[in-house]
Amino acid sequence: MTTQTSTLPERVRVLVIGAGFAGLGAAIKLEEAGHADFLVIDKGESVGGTWRDNTYPGAACDVPSQLYSFSFAPNPNWSRSFSPQPEIHAYLQDVAQKSGVLDRFRFGVTVQDAAWDETDQAWTVVTSAGTVITDVLISGAGGLSEPKNPDIKGIDDFGGQIFHTARWDHDTDLTGKRVAIIGTGASAIQVIPEIAKTVGHLDVYQRTAPWVMPRHDRAYTGIERLGFKLVPGLQKLYRTAIYWGRETYVPGFVRAPKILTLAKTMALGNIKKGISDPDLQAKVTPDFAIGCKRILISNTYYPALAQDNVEVITDGIAEITPTGVVTRDGVSRDVDVLIVATGFHTTDQPIAHHIKGRDGRTLADVWSVGGMAQYKGTTTSGFPNLFQIVGANVGLGHSSMVFMIESQVNYIVSALQQMGAGQISSLEPTVEAQTEWSEDLHRRMQTTVWSTGGCASWYLDEHGRNTTLWPRTTFAFRQLLREFDIDKYVVTARSTAPTHSTEEKVAL
Ligand code: NAP
Repeated sequence: MTTQTSTLPERVRVLVIGAGFAGLGAAIKLEEAGHADFLVIDKGESVGGTWRDNTYPGAACDVPSQLYSFSFAPNPNWSRSFSPQPEIHAYLQDVAQKSGVLDRFRFGVTVQDAAWDETDQAWTVVTSAGTVITDVLISGAGGLSEPKNPDIKGIDDFGGQIFHTARWDHDTDLTGKRVAIIGTGASAIQVIPEIAKTVGHLDVYQRTAPWVMPRHDRAYTGIERLGFKLVPGLQKLYRTAIYWGRETYVPGFVRAPKILTLAKTMALGNIKKGISDPDLQAKVTPDFAIGCKRILISNTYYPALAQDNVEVITDGIAEITPTGVVTRDGVSRDVDVLIVATGFHTTDQPIAHHIKGRDGRTLADVWSVGGMAQYKGTTTSGFPNLFQIVGANVGLGHSSMVFMIESQVNYIVSALQQMGAGQISSLEPTVEAQTEWSEDLHRRMQTTVWSTGGCASWYLDEHGRNTTLWPRTTFAFRQLLREFDIDKYVVTARSTAPTHSTEEKVAL
């Protein structure tokens, strides 16, 4: 794909940060709605976001692609029910190419600072490629974009190869090597079966055993793929069936975790099927309620752990030395390569440190007090004309984030329509609307398995608040964001269009 790295325009109507599902989806829908004066910037070199960056062996989506894709861009060519990462990345590149919006994408551009200018009623965004003034700022930077490295004593002094799963070093050949992997989350359980095939020895450092259910994955038959191309509505039928199947998890997650008993039985069966050694079975059996952390799916993870060249270590890491890893029981294990599979900065999103609102404080400053809080996971009081896709409490543990992203994009486009029609220069949610929204979410959170399941997870922030997940059905989210509710906003009307001077506050 051609990458655009030329200089940036001085001013645009809308600036979008990030070219993953969120940024690309926003660009396409802005174009469709007639808001062509936009620019999308991304620090990487192509569209794809997390599906561009996570290239580790075995990377694949654990939501079926019929659902984990844009509703407006079905792909009849998915090779299997759960697509591997290269196929999803190729899909996004293809959609971008065909949509005709790529001429407004600039790659290799990093946001350094974005500050709201009350006089100009616009954002001044300083990037690695220059400064852009924009009326509206949309962040699609995503919650899984910045790898999180563990804060383990000595890690910086390790003398061998070391890399994070999200920054896989394809130049390092693992064949026959002594390798260690830290973490047993969603990324690790996909990597481990792949590399266990070729490494000499693999140490798996498990801090918490995850729940892993069987993965019902299969290749689509030629007839099915032909059907997807030729039979109107067939793909939609698959998508709809998968959507409702996934939605049946919601009551178990948010109201009555006991409903998840069947899932627990299947996950326990998965352990027994993959591992015959009772000691190893015990080691990998989780001690918290299923669903409290993300439920993982794999048919190959447990058999890989049972291989002769793999050891599961649960003693806890005391330190990393220049030659290997020392556990708390004093045992030292030398390795050539250390793979860090310890997840991402989710509740302390790096982009939040760069966006400064009306009073000069960053989103991170504001959230440092009570945690991430937004209205409808999209807009933030004190940050006019800022829309965040996959903001606070928009994440899911059971279904497709693309569905949530499309709901938010629809809401944002609706906001822009109303801003245009009403000659509005800026808007932000009222404090009351945002507080009411947050309080409702956190009241609902109390009965969820994420709060009651007895685990520590990245869903919770340092205050113990779940600021990442959506505690209701996805169709409720879609309904709530169906149309921009301007009555919940403080609106500043432009007195004389199209100048950028202000303005009178309008109470709606
Ligand atoms: P993750 O699920 O957060 O897992 C991180 C792992 O590292 C956990 O096992 C964690 O243990 C461990 N860990 C973290 N810090 C540690 C430390 N200091 N010492 C020892 N162990 C440590 O991260 P991830 O696997 O990268 O996945 C993140 C998210 O990305 C997923 O939840 C999912 O939303 C998404 N994802 C999706 C897919 C997919 O669709 N297939 C694939 C990959 C990722 P604890 O559990 O004890 O904290």
